Amino acid sequence: MRLDRLLAGQGTQTRKEVRELIRKGRVTVNGQPEKAADRQVEPLTDVIEVDGVPLRVREHVYLMLHKPQGVVSATEDRHQPTVVDLVPPELRRKNLFPAGRLDKDTEGFVLITDDGAFAHRILAPKNKLPKRYTAVLDHRLDPAVIGEFEKGVDIGGGDHTLPAELTILENGENPRVSVIICEGMYHQIKRMFERFGYRVIYLKREQIGGLPLDPALPKGACRELTDEELHRLE
Ligand code: URA
Repeated sequence: MRLDRLLAGQGTQTRKEVRELIRKGRVTVNGQPEKAADRQVEPLTDVIEVDGVPLRVREHVYLMLHKPQGVVSATEDRHQPTVVDLVPPELRRKNLFPAGRLDKDTEGFVLITDDGAFAHRILAPKNKLPKRYTAVLDHRLDPAVIGEFEKGVDIGGGDHTLPAELTILENGENPRVSVIICEGMYHQIKRMFERFGYRVIYLKREQIGGLPLDPALPKGACRELTDEELHRLE
């Protein structure tokens, strides 16, 4: 892999910034300063240092994506843009996929990785990883629905959800609510509200496990997770 690509892929600097570091001789490969951005390096065996600090090379990539509406949670699609299409070239890897799906019209936090074992671990139903959403509904919410969500909801098709936490953020003609669910059934939140006669007119995933969507990450952008953020997912 190219040296500049490897460094930019760490997610902390752009390719332009990385080239500048290399040009100034601040990057060494196996102890020797390297001024060629296109130098081929082997991430797992070459020792790469920036200002004398060894590069932490991850075997896998873990990205926080701020998914906009209109994008499908798939790896490829002949007709529609996918979440993987939004990953910039310097963060691209083979086998990237979304660990957990959002509907096409839902926006917010999607975790993208190439680590199948990690995704399997965090998505396993027995893990009950909480996911927090903000929803906007089509008419004033009866607070009795809070208790119904607490009991778990029969959403049809033989599906019964685990208890969910519903909080009213703003009640009115188009109430804004927060919902925490611990599963990821198909259209789960929309079906939970539908059961009580409400239509979800806007939905955004705000948080996965202990990790909120970075408020500084614009819609459509993604960045690598830090080690500390990664741990907050489990
Ligand atoms: N629940 C839904 O109904 N849709 C989503 O995208 C996520 C949760």
